Amino acid sequence: ARKAGGDRLVPYSQQLNAAAGERLDMESLLRHAVEREELELHYQPQQGLHDGGLIGFEALVRWRRNGQLISPADFIPMAEESGLIVAIGNWVLEEACRQVSVWQAETGRPVVVAVNISPRQFAAPGFLPHLEELLATSHVDPGSIELEITESVMVEDAEAAIALLHRLRALGFRLAIDDFGTGYSSLAYLSRFPIHKLKIDQSFVRNMHSVREQSAIVQATIGLGHSLGLTVIAEGVETEAQRGMLSGWRCDEIQGYYYSRPLPADSALKFLEGSLQL
Ligand code: C2E
Ligand code: CA
Ligand code: CA
Ligand code: CA
Repeated sequence: ARKAGGDRLVPYSQQLNAAAGERLDMESLLRHAVEREELELHYQPQQGLHDGGLIGFEALVRWRRNGQLISPADFIPMAEESGLIVAIGNWVLEEACRQVSVWQAETGRPVVVAVNISPRQFAAPGFLPHLEELLATSHVDPGSIELEITESVMVEDAEAAIALLHRLRALGFRLAIDDFGTGYSSLAYLSRFPIHKLKIDQSFVRNMHSVREQSAIVQATIGLGHSLGLTVIAEGVETEAQRGMLSGWRCDEIQGYYYSRPLPADSALKFLEGSLQL
């Protein structure tokens, strides 16, 4: 099992195949997981580099099966293929909105939670109506919800994707491009995205200190983001050295084990309260 957070994520194969010799139908297990509320969200804090304060959290889904946490990397791709991602994604959005209201009531302060939106979820006809309904029923300020989309939403129909981003922004949601630099989108499209934030993928951050090309990419991306008027956040920041480099390059925010691992909701609230006292 790899290390991640207060959570310990177990590879799906080790978790599920132990149960029976026969092939388990993972899709139906996952379908039940949504119905039985076996999914939960963990929250990874994001830190501002200008003043060192907490910016918000990214919500990351986990599947709790028999007391163990299964990593999203082990079921999101399959959910994406089967279409189950729509039900999972709707649940994630509802749960994130619920948590935001609880934390705001608890602390008296606005909190921003970023939610991952898969390409298939983004393209589903029900996506926008579901968000509108959620705003109407949950009374959450859309400015407290940041939707993280990847460049791959451009692949199918770029014009439709850009139009949808404009609708989402008009509703008041914050928008971020996730895993920036790993997709196929052209810079011409980037300039047309009505987004707030650009997330530099952790693959670039990882080797920044040793590979000159990687550090060049990160610096150029920060410059590009700023010249487009965007906030830039670097993901996967694990060391003081990485934080220092990013800070020197005027990156706005960081997210990674250096600041905090993803936390269960109760620990995330403690983190939030701690940061408000500073
Ligand atoms: P992502 O959106 O790029 O999320 C960041 C991943 O990096 C998370 O993995 C996080 O735990 C991990 N991480 C954070 N800091 C560090 C660090 O300092 N070092 C390293 N090595 N890793 C770090 P996680 O939670 O396993 O999620 C994996 C992916 O699963 C996410 O990548 C995202 O693409 C997907 N995912 C997670 N939750 C959801 C969800 O609710 N919906 C959808 N559609 N996808 C999700
Ligand atoms: Ca993300
Ligand atoms: Ca990412
Ligand atoms: Ca990623």
